[in-house]
Amino acid sequence: MSQSEPSIFTRIIDREIPADIVFEDDLFIAFTDIAPKAPIHIVLVPKTSEYADVVQLASGDPELLAQMIARASTIAHQVSDGQFRLVFNTGAGAGQTIFHVHGHIMSGEMTEGSLGR
Ligand code: 5GP
Repeated sequence: MSQSEPSIFTRIIDREIPADIVFEDDLFIAFTDIAPKAPIHIVLVPKTSEYADVVQLASGDPELLAQMIARASTIAHQVSDGQFRLVFNTGAGAGQTIFHVHGHIMSGEMTEGSLGR
């Protein structure tokens, strides 16, 4: 992935594309999804573009995945009551459109179709 065009998420990390950033540290960035499927819908992205999806991340760097889940909880406490849904679309057939691993943090009242598109 590092040899190909930078993903939209890398371009957000590099501030080439604007986003409503709600959290950032050395390892992760999180911002409001441009097309929210829940009252609170935040995309949480590891800064590394090495992993296309959560399966690759889990086998390549399980510690980073564990840290990602901890960050999701931190963010959910920041923006809501700390309860959240964490969705990893994995594969185009499952709705994944950006192949730079990311999780969808969703909270608030869930609507019909909030799990997919
Ligand atoms: P996926 O479909 O790959 O699981 O998730 C990609 C998500 O990124 C989608 O929910 C989509 O709405 C969101 N997205 C795509 N482009 C942008 C963008 O330029 N800015 C923001 N904030 N979100 C985006």
